Amino acid sequence: MNKQDFPILNEQVHGRPLVYLDNAATSQKPQPVLDAIIEAYTHWNSNIHRGVHHLSQVATAKHEEARQAVATFIGAKSSDEIVFTKGTTDAINALAFSFGEACLHEGDEIIVSGLEHHSNIVPWQMLCERKKAILRHIPLREDLSLDIEAFKGLLSDRTKLVSVAHVSNVLGTIQPIEEIIRLAHEKNVPVCIDGAQSVPHMRVNVQALDCDFLAFSGHKLYGPTGIGVLYGKREWLDTMPPHEGGGEMINHVRWSGTTYNDLPYKFEAGTPNFVGSWALKTAIDYMQTVGLDAIEEHEKELTQYCEQHLLALGCKVYGAGQPKAGVISFNVFNGEQLVHPFDIGTLLDQQGVAVRTGHHCAEPLIDTMGVPGTVRVSFGLYNDQADVDAFLAALQKAIMLLS
Ligand code: PMP
Repeated sequence: MNKQDFPILNEQVHGRPLVYLDNAATSQKPQPVLDAIIEAYTHWNSNIHRGVHHLSQVATAKHEEARQAVATFIGAKSSDEIVFTKGTTDAINALAFSFGEACLHEGDEIIVSGLEHHSNIVPWQMLCERKKAILRHIPLREDLSLDIEAFKGLLSDRTKLVSVAHVSNVLGTIQPIEEIIRLAHEKNVPVCIDGAQSVPHMRVNVQALDCDFLAFSGHKLYGPTGIGVLYGKREWLDTMPPHEGGGEMINHVRWSGTTYNDLPYKFEAGTPNFVGSWALKTAIDYMQTVGLDAIEEHEKELTQYCEQHLLALGCKVYGAGQPKAGVISFNVFNGEQLVHPFDIGTLLDQQGVAVRTGHHCAEPLIDTMGVPGTVRVSFGLYNDQADVDAFLAALQKAIMLLS
């Protein structure tokens, strides 16, 4: 599917054709996105929002057009609710600081889940330390799904925010965020969704979900690195102070004090990544041309095909049989003995197959799973059955060598 649009997929690795199955870490970029970056620096590079000159006005218009494209893409009410960030991590850190300043007090609680990426844990830990608040997490059941009954028990008058991943970056499992949002809202608790692993793979509509915040990264959805998004409902963003000070985010600066700019600029101190936002818009256009439903269906089929074959090879697949969005984690066992995921990853790499191994920045989950790490394969829209077959053949060779 559309492989020819991604020049890097023609690369050879160790003399073998590249089979790129590390899309959950970052995705490759189609030619239109590469062209957009060249076009920006070739034809209209200029700092935005300040200049009266032509190039600055073109750059400003492109940046704001990109903001509108993001708003439409995720179904936000207004582009004022779209804050450009460096990525998901930056978005969650910004939220933790600003929301924390506005809404969190000693003894308050924040709830995350037991399968979060570190970037949806550590900013909350830092905030809780600063505010003497408490971070709780939804425990996992035996099958690594979220224990929703336990979540109900955790929600209380002290809960000020729930922040959960839509799709686990380790397991690929799709979390019941609709139910989590409904339960939290019954207690008037806002919900942040970490959409880093869902927005690239399925339709995510913030108004349909009624989530209060959504964070995601451009580089995982075929856009460039260094650009991401924090969506927030206006009523929340309006009550939150800025997390960084500098140019762009101010209304007036006097020695007697500073007044802040309107949304979303209040949260965008300094020169924004206007080339990145334009390239992100180009990536979104690209995804929409391929079709979000087609992408979701295609990746679902590949995931199921791959999972079935891994199980048939005797691999331990984590969260097997649960609905997944383009990510599978597994391990190989030699009898009772775990074959270290790094060894599998290295032998796959030697055959041109790029996968990820380790704890995937989710150590609490990996600890719960009781393994040192996993091998993770993750798909993008350009992967096809031939990639999965090449991976499975390489894996069989690796298993033979290691057993
Ligand atoms: N959350 C999840 C679920 C992720 O998979 C990732 C990236 N691996 C992040 C957050 C962090 O994204 P970024 O590094 O782009 O900020």
